[in-house]
Amino acid sequence: MNKKSESLFKKANKFIPGGVNSPVRAFRSVEVTPLFIARASGSKIYDADGHEYVDYVSSWGPMILGHSHPSVIRAICRAARRGTSYGAPTEMEIRMAEMIRRAIPSVEMVRMVSSGTEAVMSAIRLARGFTGREKIIKFEGCYHGHADSLLVKAGSGVATLGIPGSPGIPAKLAELTINLPFNDSAPVRSAVDRYGDEIACIIVEPVAGNMGVVPPRPGFLEDLRKITESRGIVLIFDEVITGFRLTYGGYQNLAGIEPDLTCLGKIIGGGLPVGAFGGKKKIMEMLAPLGPVYQAGTLSGNPLAMAAGVTTLKLLRDDRTLYDKIDGMALTICGEMKRLFAEKGLPAFIHRTGSMFTAFFTGSEVFDFATASTCDTKLFARFFRGMLSRGVYLAPSQFEAAFVSAAHTNDDIDRTLSACTETLREL
Ligand SMILES: *Cc1c(COP(=O)(O)O)cnc(C)c1O
Repeated sequence: MNKKSESLFKKANKFIPGGVNSPVRAFRSVEVTPLFIARASGSKIYDADGHEYVDYVSSWGPMILGHSHPSVIRAICRAARRGTSYGAPTEMEIRMAEMIRRAIPSVEMVRMVSSGTEAVMSAIRLARGFTGREKIIKFEGCYHGHADSLLVKAGSGVATLGIPGSPGIPAKLAELTINLPFNDSAPVRSAVDRYGDEIACIIVEPVAGNMGVVPPRPGFLEDLRKITESRGIVLIFDEVITGFRLTYGGYQNLAGIEPDLTCLGKIIGGGLPVGAFGGKKKIMEMLAPLGPVYQAGTLSGNPLAMAAGVTTLKLLRDDRTLYDKIDGMALTICGEMKRLFAEKGLPAFIHRTGSMFTAFFTGSEVFDFATASTCDTKLFARFFRGMLSRGVYLAPSQFEAAFVSAAHTNDDIDRTLSACTETLREL
């Protein structure tokens, strides 16, 4: 059935560790051969064997307009004809910076990089340079890319594969990372009371997306803002997923909270490798060449990536109905799934924020990594395989989000829900 994918995977394993260039792609926790993708268009992806799938992975978040959006592809081709990289500033980088600045008021200045990992890593260095402090606070189950300080008790693939940390990270560095439970301000207060003058920053996904979708409880982000403000700690919102996913701007626009620094990625690259970090001018001015904190990149602000990103942002900005549409589709899917699970008598807890959602296979409420970990991941794997065999491509892990794009249609939703009905019958 998946002959081509299987033979490609076998071959890939000879030359690439685990056959993949990013661990969750290997489908390990769901115990099937990963599909090799040949092409994608709109809401669909097509594997090497020619099967069509309704895609909810969305390249892990970026493809909010759907795959191969004609305007985005045209912009990339037009840019490519003028050269693919110069290592010199271009006008398009100013346009990108201005668009981000206008959309997210706390971002007074911004620097482009080539991945979310790089954005977060640089923001942390900047926070440390700005404060002259070394410790950082992060939250269990949040994922901030794979930089050394941030892989301790992280979400995403680290959670999926059950890796508590990672060998190769110096203990001296890991010691500087304080890990606390998400959605609980009391431990943050105690940690700050204890180490206050040593803490450079608190970094958080304002809506967690990498232990599955876990929204912030009322007051949690407000508390983080108050605590950091009172102690001169830099508050960093990692909006690599949430940036431009929930509104034209960051989740911070919706929450009405201004962090000191914001990390972006995924959507702002329109499907090309991009990241960005920005925030208060007085902090950003510490960056080289203005200040002493060093950060650089050969391909930063790459013309193709800027073309794809700027075009994507323009389309999001100019279509007033887009966010309502994708949120509405996600609402329908979640509502129906909830009903189907209940009918089956199967415990499931569904979290949705805008167009991102996760169905947790657990009977208890999920509000942090410990509660997310109560999920029956074996049952999730069976559900995943049932959906996949019926043409619905979900993230191959309990601890990830599903993303609805503007290219999804009512027909896609019907297909998804029939697949769900049939799969649940099997479980
Ligand atoms: C994906 C992600 C990152 C890392 O971005 P990459 O481009 O994969 O390096 C960082 N933070 C969050 C919240 C993410 O979801």
